[in-house]
Amino acid sequence: MNIAIDGPAGAGKSTIAKLVADKKGFIYVDTGAMYRSIALYIIEKNINSDDEVDIKNACDNIDIKIKHEDGVQHIYLNDRDVSTDIRKEEVGNMASKAATKKVVRDKLLNLQRDIAASNDVIMDGRDIGTFVLPDAELKIYLTASVMTRAQRRYDQLAEKGESPDMDKIAEDIEKRDYQDMHRDIAPLKQADDAVLLDTSDMTIEEVISKISDLIDNVK
Ligand code: C5P
Repeated sequence: MNIAIDGPAGAGKSTIAKLVADKKGFIYVDTGAMYRSIALYIIEKNINSDDEVDIKNACDNIDIKIKHEDGVQHIYLNDRDVSTDIRKEEVGNMASKAATKKVVRDKLLNLQRDIAASNDVIMDGRDIGTFVLPDAELKIYLTASVMTRAQRRYDQLAEKGESPDMDKIAEDIEKRDYQDMHRDIAPLKQADDAVLLDTSDMTIEEVISKISDLIDNVK
């Protein structure tokens, strides 16, 4: 069984998907981490993300592997575990730029479909229900208001001891939403057969309970 969770940046997809996967015995696959790994390579190698040839060459030199260690997803970029390094804001912003390129999306599509073909997965991203797994048994579009998402991000960073700038976070989120929703290939949008969940006024427990009920109704 495959479950697709899509939605904009900071909607809580990964937190929710991880917890539901643990509860229901699915493998959680974070496709954003794959785009982030390519973005990290682009940043570290100083590649011009607007140059089609350079991006194509970069993709040819990138090997991405997903491994589940003690139930936790680790992502390897050319055999280096980059699970932590990809979490920076600048990597997320570069991922959104790189994700507009066909060569980048094509590279990750097969990897994503292969994992879903051989496992029960909860896969989260932007185009899982619309494009990667159009036959997923359950599709969820998880969203929340920009201010709610910015506040959650702010709290996460503050908890880590950083001094985040709320206006900058909200601005980045809006920019990323726009870029993800307006690109030519596989833009972020709710699939026709997806269940919409606006979590602005929901607790994590409420969202998990709602999704668990939806899964039980499919089985
Ligand atoms: O979900 P996360 O914030 O880690 O994703 C980073 C970026 O990767 C997104 O802003 C989006 O541009 C891109 N992405 C995508 N398709 C997916 C997952 C992520 O285009 N399935």
